Amino acid sequence: MQQETVIVLDFGGQYNQLIARRVRECNVYCEIYSYRTDLAKIKAKNPKGIIFTGGPNSAYLPDSPTIDPEIYTWGVPILGICYGSQLMMHNLGGEVCKAPEREYGKTLVSLDTTSPLFEGLPDSNVCWMSHNDYIKTAAPGFSIVAHTPNCPVAAAQDQSRGLYCVQFHPEVLHTENGTQMLHNFVYKVCGCAGTWKMDSFVEHAVQELRAKIGNGKVLCALSGGVDSSVCAAMLAKAVGKQLTCVFVDHGLLRKNEREEVCQVFGEGGAFDINFICVDARKRFYDKLAGKTEPEAKRKIIGEEFIRVFEDEAKKIGAVDFLAQGTI
Ligand code: GLN
Repeated sequence: MQQETVIVLDFGGQYNQLIARRVRECNVYCEIYSYRTDLAKIKAKNPKGIIFTGGPNSAYLPDSPTIDPEIYTWGVPILGICYGSQLMMHNLGGEVCKAPEREYGKTLVSLDTTSPLFEGLPDSNVCWMSHNDYIKTAAPGFSIVAHTPNCPVAAAQDQSRGLYCVQFHPEVLHTENGTQMLHNFVYKVCGCAGTWKMDSFVEHAVQELRAKIGNGKVLCALSGGVDSSVCAAMLAKAVGKQLTCVFVDHGLLRKNEREEVCQVFGEGGAFDINFICVDARKRFYDKLAGKTEPEAKRKIIGEEFIRVFEDEAKKIGAVDFLAQGTI
């Protein structure tokens, strides 16, 4: 069964991961894609809804990130946030330009609470604004459902096409009732049932890993950062002792980092895996001695890291899979 999916289309904003997280907190599965992604790929995901993120550019300038307006015809509800809202208006015939007054920070916004986005909310709501441009005129077919003294179109909607946009950022905690707005979008506009849970994602991923790995051996480069640590933890759950994690102490770690990683993943820690902590400090220091140019140092560290890892891998013998936290 295909699970309900909301897609976040990334236009370069700083809160994109946060938007996805908020959607997931509403028990709806969410994936983030660049705005450059082939639209056929997005469509094939059969999304229940799409969210356009904010971004630093100006929608009306020629080289700014944009999207094929075909997306507005799919009948899939779209919520544009900040840059995403301006882009939607710009694409569909509204007027976006530099605002006479920049808005930044907590701003009192008048909401039309008959909008499905703002159902159950007060008609005056503190929202987080961060924009230099603004929507001067909403696109044809849209009605304005929020405004501030400096922002005539703080939110607009075309219910018949399922298109919604907000100039402010509902995903940040500074926006009061922001999560409720996103909740309203995914439930009331997109019609999601909210059957997904983070735990079920982990369960599902662990099962997939088990099926793929079988009796194979896995080697994982563990840095202690969030990506490789999550990867190692999931693999530990999936295949236990078939996993070997190699952690390299290159002598440039944060204070107590090595101890913390060893505590979590090493002997007596939370996972029943093979864990190797390599003390390679001297190797790195020897290579770095006398070097001062930052880029040269980075290259030396990268190169040496691979060599140390290779040396350890040789000791372990044949492995079937190499795991890493990021791609
Ligand atoms: N760059 C746009 C503006 O200044 C959008 C900003 C944003 O998405 N936060 O209005």
